[in-house]
Amino acid sequence: MTSLQHRPGERRRVSLGDHGLQVGDGEFLVIGGPCSVESRDGLLRIAQGVADGGAAMLRGGAFKPRTSPHSFQGLGDEGLVLLADARARVGLPIVTEVLDVRDVARVAAVTDLIQVGARNMANGGLLREVARTGKPVLLKRGFGATVQELLDAAEYLLVEGNEDVLLVERGIRTFETATRFTLDIAAIPVLRERTHLPILMDPSHAAGVARWVPDLARAAAAVGADGIMVEVHDAPGSALSDAEQALSVEQFAGLVTSLDPILEAVGARRSSVSLSVS
Ligand code: PEP
Ligand code: MN
Repeated sequence: MTSLQHRPGERRRVSLGDHGLQVGDGEFLVIGGPCSVESRDGLLRIAQGVADGGAAMLRGGAFKPRTSPHSFQGLGDEGLVLLADARARVGLPIVTEVLDVRDVARVAAVTDLIQVGARNMANGGLLREVARTGKPVLLKRGFGATVQELLDAAEYLLVEGNEDVLLVERGIRTFETATRFTLDIAAIPVLRERTHLPILMDPSHAAGVARWVPDLARAAAAVGADGIMVEVHDAPGSALSDAEQALSVEQFAGLVTSLDPILEAVGARRSSVSLSVS
């Protein structure tokens, strides 16, 4: 199947939020925040922590795609309110996931970037609905999907006329069990050859273990990714979801600092909110 909408050889830059944040074509986006939005105070502490540590965008799940229905499912609409509040107080634009077509309009009304997660990558109906909001979309690779299937899923967004699409490599399932998923680092240069869209990497879900996250993140910067999305918590051990892979805010700040020489070597720079554009 040919990809009609992807334009290899071109690099797209996508604007996020209302204050001039950009990603792609040399602008490297650092997203940090909790797996799940858990509480107002906790989210504010983490948001301030990641902002101070160099994040340009705040992540946090309000609707959570959990493997078991008995696990914490997220705060839902209340989580969206807390994310908007954190954005207003800390100043970082926000990204959060939508799981269900029935929630798309409410999520789009709040967030700056709509996340479609690995488990929904191939959900064409959800993709079309998300694309039609006109909001930028963060599309994560399914853990059983090939690179071409990720590009085909993105095509659902592009054919709706929404070109503000970021792709995310987040690890695939292989026979290896030492890490939670197997980071397909080669997917990044492969994707750069096949699409103009910015390509991010999520080292947290790939590794599943916090101490391996910084090395994977630096690898992503070195192979030409346009950004990373990292799970961070103010008390990692007691996170309600994905506790083992969450960095502390201090570890996150150290990781971000260590990216800069790598980004300089590959001709990129960390993107940030530009106060002059507000
Ligand atoms: C997430 O980023 O919160 C998440 C659930 O990731 P994935 O869809 O990649 O599993
Ligand atoms: Mn998670």
